[in-house]
Amino acid sequence: MNWMDTELELMADASLNRSLRASRSVSGYPGYTVRGEQVLLNMSSNDYLGLSQHPAILEVMREALLTEGAGSGASRLTTGNGLAYVRLEEALADWQNCEAALVFANGYMANSGVISTLVGRGDVVFSDQLNHASMVDGIVFSRAEHARYRHNDLEHLRKLLNNNRDKRRKLIVTDAIFSMDGDRAHLQELISLKHEYGAMLMVDEAHSGGLYGGRGEGLCHELGLQNDVDIHMGTFSKSFGVYGAYICGSRTLIRWLVNKARPLIYSTALPPSIIAGIAKALVLVKEENWRRERIHLATRLFRSLLCNSGFKIGAGDSPIVPLIVGDNETALRFSSALEEEGIAAVAIRPPTVPEGTARIRFSLSAVHTDKELTHAAVRTHNIGLQLGVLCP
Ligand code: PMP
Repeated sequence: MNWMDTELELMADASLNRSLRASRSVSGYPGYTVRGEQVLLNMSSNDYLGLSQHPAILEVMREALLTEGAGSGASRLTTGNGLAYVRLEEALADWQNCEAALVFANGYMANSGVISTLVGRGDVVFSDQLNHASMVDGIVFSRAEHARYRHNDLEHLRKLLNNNRDKRRKLIVTDAIFSMDGDRAHLQELISLKHEYGAMLMVDEAHSGGLYGGRGEGLCHELGLQNDVDIHMGTFSKSFGVYGAYICGSRTLIRWLVNKARPLIYSTALPPSIIAGIAKALVLVKEENWRRERIHLATRLFRSLLCNSGFKIGAGDSPIVPLIVGDNETALRFSSALEEEGIAAVAIRPPTVPEGTARIRFSLSAVHTDKELTHAAVRTHNIGLQLGVLCP
């Protein structure tokens, strides 16, 4: 096994090594995290609406745990399919105004499982270069051809669609909001291309579900495009503050997945407490509009503060704010300096992002106050000057 040490050394030399660091939550303060003895403002969580510690969610989870036990005990196709699952999926279909919904254990399993059941050998998947790894892995599992188009480059996509006209099935997959860049996919244009070339379209709303649309349905709804999306995916681990994922679409799609999706068939159902927590979070996501209003206000403030400092933060308008520093070592030093100032904001490096675009990925929450965000922006500005990321 010596080869592993050698490889790991090489990764460390390139500032590409990763390690698992322990942190814990602060009860009642979802905007903070504790590392060692230090309390840090958490700007690296995807708890966008600040629901992860909502008392009503915790209460129903506790109740389900006590009445139904710790685990579901079996796959959904055997005895793990509790009534709460069925009710949740009805509520999800109603929320998304679609025919049917299906809950998966997490977003990774939903994406990888769904893509690999929709296409196979002889098919082709057109995927944005910055799509999440779970989609990329789904394409690999499917054995379909992977036609990767440059980020948001619709002319490149059209060229690839033209080159693959003869393929059996065609699937276009995209994040709605890109997870490391925080910018939007060009959904309207993707829909036009899907119709023109007879392709299916799958949209991952992991970072937009809960945040956009009148009841948090996502970006497709906000833009009135939901009826043109064939496979609508979202997660419960981010805005919902819990865990799990959903697929929404036609009754036929969901029947197909129940029969074919291996992560659903061959894996134990989620624990009842998680399903109860998701169901309560769904009610809050739909009803508590002020959380959406707050996160968008917080986003505008933080983005404008960083922009005015002279940082490059990309084209997005979402709560994912990427501060691109370029090289891996500077990104790591930037993140450590922020931590010394009481701010948790992790460095993201290749292969998660393309070579030469290492960054600090800030993700904001509705629970962050203007004061906290302004403080973080001032500290970030000072560190940017110290590290030469900003010119004086
Ligand atoms: N899709 C996107 C765009 C994501 O960012 C993530 C998680 N970071 C996932 C899917 C996977 O979701 P989960 O964490 O629930 O597995």
